[in-house]
Amino acid sequence: MQYYSTRDRSQIADEKEAIFRGPAPDGGLYVPETLPKFSYADFLDAPYPALAAAVLAQFFPAFDYDALSFWTQAAYGDFRTPGVVGFCDLGECTVAELFHGPTAAFKDFALQMLPRLMSASAEGRRVRILTATSGDTGKAALAGFQDVENTDIFVFYPAGGVSPMQMRQMATQQGKNVHVYAVRGNFDDAQRTVKEIFADEGIRRRGEEAGIAFSSANSINIGRLVPQIVYYIYSYLELVRRGTIEMGEKVDVAVPTGNFGNILAAMYAKEMSLPIGDFICASNRNNVLTDFIRTGVYDANRPFYKTTSPSMDILVASNIERYLHRILGRDYKIRERIDALKEAGKYSVPIDAIRRSKLVGYWSGDAEAEARIREVFERDGYLMDPHTAVAYDGMKKHGAARHVLVMATASPYKFPDTVARALGIDEDDERAQLEKIEALSGVPIPAPLAAVFDLPLRFEDTIDVEEMRTVVQEGFYD
Ligand SMILES: *Cc1c(COP(=O)(O)O)cnc(C)c1O
Repeated sequence: MQYYSTRDRSQIADEKEAIFRGPAPDGGLYVPETLPKFSYADFLDAPYPALAAAVLAQFFPAFDYDALSFWTQAAYGDFRTPGVVGFCDLGECTVAELFHGPTAAFKDFALQMLPRLMSASAEGRRVRILTATSGDTGKAALAGFQDVENTDIFVFYPAGGVSPMQMRQMATQQGKNVHVYAVRGNFDDAQRTVKEIFADEGIRRRGEEAGIAFSSANSINIGRLVPQIVYYIYSYLELVRRGTIEMGEKVDVAVPTGNFGNILAAMYAKEMSLPIGDFICASNRNNVLTDFIRTGVYDANRPFYKTTSPSMDILVASNIERYLHRILGRDYKIRERIDALKEAGKYSVPIDAIRRSKLVGYWSGDAEAEARIREVFERDGYLMDPHTAVAYDGMKKHGAARHVLVMATASPYKFPDTVARALGIDEDDERAQLEKIEALSGVPIPAPLAAVFDLPLRFEDTIDVEEMRTVVQEGFYD
């Protein structure tokens, strides 16, 4: 299948090259030339890995089907819940739990798959993965790429900008090919610098001389986006299996959104024929997307807030570029808008195009999210993490016309401080917080999170943004 850059239709690559590269050479993002229709109803009884192989085969026909089936089985076979996705019915909505993978965040769905695709696409070339993370991507990427042949990985997270649990998860990562740095700056600083490194001719050439190509494990990589389509189809079919909806009936989705990858995967699923009504884009106080969706003006000139849902503390959402490509059509001046964003921090699009796409936006403050955690726990006995609580709050603000799938992106135990406070647990020590939440809720602590307290901290370096360029060139002059 052909992929082309959002910024220039003549920049073409096949799936292997698109996955291997991450961003396109012109800085745009690869998009598929068509979104294949998918006969989702035929997969009502398919186990998750089988469905995943069928969806991936539509986008990545260059890989053989047996290989895809083998990889999806390996990627999803040992998730901690039998159906891979967990479900909890709360009446007007069903929570789809995407956090039963090895790092307890939904990023595992993409990042248990991407390294296998990357390694098969590299065809013997060495690849160095650079990743800026607001918390969960880093750990999930480290876990996915750990000791994968011909790869190494550099992860950069904002110092003080991730939860202590997220920090501990990254700092204890095992593996010979992994590097983790805290960066003095926020997520956008780290993400921008990674993008600059990708675009830096000198660094790229020196890498080439050393036999190393750079690539990305951020959701700008098409190999990360496609595996995320699968859980929307699977969750939809689960609602049919449970008798919550009839086959063909529409549902809305509520998605806690940062870089816009997760919700974009839902939009792709809809274009592939899955009956989705509205896309509820839920943000925290960094509400740039809410304003964009309501006014058509994307304006990143605003204060950056650290919130209790740190994986959504983002002002420049990368995948909006792919969304613009869907709603504005092929060559509709995406490059101009991205340039305007770089230079003036803002651009605008016709509001009608956004309305037609059925995207709606809401945002929630920390106190509102915390109140939702408490309310849902007290009423339904169900425990949400702060990101999921933002989505739940967005669903409530939208007012449900249809059944809603609320996408739960992290285990509540990844953010024990906020969850403990919401439940009225007065405790500062993180490990004790976990234990007290478990005692109160009866929800078991995910084994990989319990384990981090006993592992040694391997990575404790904090660097300046400027130093990122230096560290990624490690080994170039050996
Ligand atoms: C990454 C992440 C998000 C945001 O997802 P995007 O695809 O970047 O929009 C939301 N919640 C959690 C817990 C995350 O890790």
